[in-house]
Amino acid sequence: MNKTIYNFSAGPAVLPQCVLGQAQEALVDWQGSGMSILSVSHRSDAFLEVVAKSKQDLTELLQLPDNYHILFLQGGATAQFSMVPMNLLAENQCAAYVNSGYWAQKAISEARRYAHVTEIDIAKFATLDADWFNDHSVDYIHCTPNETIEGLTLPAYPDMPDNIPLVGDFSSIILSEPIDVSKFGLIYAGAQKNLGPAGITLVIVRDDLIKPALAGTPAMYNYQNHIAKESLYNTPPTFAWYVVGLMLSWLKQQGGTVKIQQHNHEKAKLLYDYLDASSFYRNAIEPDYRSKMNVVFNLPSKALEKEFIEQSAQAGLLNLAGHRSIDGIRASLYNAMPISGVQTLVAFMQQFERNHVN
Ligand SMILES: *Cc1c(COP(=O)(O)O)cnc(C)c1O
Repeated sequence: MNKTIYNFSAGPAVLPQCVLGQAQEALVDWQGSGMSILSVSHRSDAFLEVVAKSKQDLTELLQLPDNYHILFLQGGATAQFSMVPMNLLAENQCAAYVNSGYWAQKAISEARRYAHVTEIDIAKFATLDADWFNDHSVDYIHCTPNETIEGLTLPAYPDMPDNIPLVGDFSSIILSEPIDVSKFGLIYAGAQKNLGPAGITLVIVRDDLIKPALAGTPAMYNYQNHIAKESLYNTPPTFAWYVVGLMLSWLKQQGGTVKIQQHNHEKAKLLYDYLDASSFYRNAIEPDYRSKMNVVFNLPSKALEKEFIEQSAQAGLLNLAGHRSIDGIRASLYNAMPISGVQTLVAFMQQFERNHVN
């Protein structure tokens, strides 16, 4: 008896069944070589093909302009909280960070070790104008387009002056919709939400921003080293990279970012429409700021939320507990979550509401 399981984990997150099947095969015998993908040299021709294909597919999916480098690194998005300031700061060492929530604050506290940080309120970000840029001399502006924990998204970006690059932590939103990469100087994302397994991080950086890092920067934290060696400065996480490659092929098969965005919007709309029609569940975030990837909501009491999490898990709807810092409920609807998962969740929510409202 196999009941259907839907995993709403915020990360590491669900991967498509067909990707898992291919990864499983490659674990034992990759491409009929008799070797496991785990045991293949990162310098072998076969693996270098994985590397080249992943970059080519990403370039295609993101319609990446040719003045950007693609890097696959380790250390997660968290390592980028340090690498970004260590590599992008100039002499005056000032940066501005949009304080949008939990992950933005993590990035801010790390940046403070290297730079004077100006914080920008999320509501003011989209309307930054020439006056603001004249008044603030900053080396870059950092934003978090999707706050994974609070379920918040940035609805718009300001028109940046040419000399101030915009940096984005896209960990929980990368490839879930088209991105105009040309608006950004640097984009980074841990893979484990929309892109593959944990252990590998995507960094996309514009050519002209690459310069010597701050004095004392460790070699592994220096973009110049990784660019010079095309992300093979040391042994990369080969298996994670391989699975990201499978995921990129899958995304192309789904019709690319435009099609994926339609699918993701449909899923999020289904859930938000239900939340808005209900007086039992609530999400207080303004519609423009609601994340399509991480939908958070509350029930009338903590006790009901606990019961909801227990009963949903028994029904095969897994990992719906909100982040430990804010509790509540969170359903992560990344690329690999099928619409049937959201339909099943909404049906469960209706039944749960009926059982608890007289
Ligand atoms: C998950 C997440 C992180 C942390 O990523 P790690 O890969 O665990 O370092 C940072 N930023 C955002 C927006 C995230 O969703």
